[in-house]
Amino acid sequence: MSSALYQEVILDHNRRPRNFGELAGANRRAEGHNALCGDQLSVWLRLEGDVVADVGFVGTGCAISRASASMMTTAVKGRTREEVDALFEDFHAMVTGAETPHRDMGPMMAFSGVSRFPMRVKCASLPWHTMRAALHGEATVVSTEGGAPESGA
Ligand code: ZN
Repeated sequence: MSSALYQEVILDHNRRPRNFGELAGANRRAEGHNALCGDQLSVWLRLEGDVVADVGFVGTGCAISRASASMMTTAVKGRTREEVDALFEDFHAMVTGAETPHRDMGPMMAFSGVSRFPMRVKCASLPWHTMRAALHGEATVVSTEGGAPESGA
């Protein structure tokens, strides 16, 4: 995909975010903030056993964070906790430029270019950190400001 197409994918998800809105029947929730950019995010999950049965988010912020949140929700829905963690590892390695993805990341490939812009890496990864906080019950508030280790562990 060309960078122009990548940009189009991001703009489309920003304009029409998928799974946008508070999720009725959610049993997990977490908040995320990126003070550097001003992104704010709430993520709701409905966990059934080990599976993310449903997911929703509400967020304000830049196009990157909203589009990443939108794509994250479509990517994790119906997956097990283990699959979600593996997907996060691949996404994180891609946006930090640590390695090229081993698998087809679908529309999320649109974020492969953000590794050149450290501020944007935080925007793109905030939804994933927030979703994982909800998934693992680690914290209800996630901040990309020095709080969470960059490894995402
Ligand atoms: Zn941002």
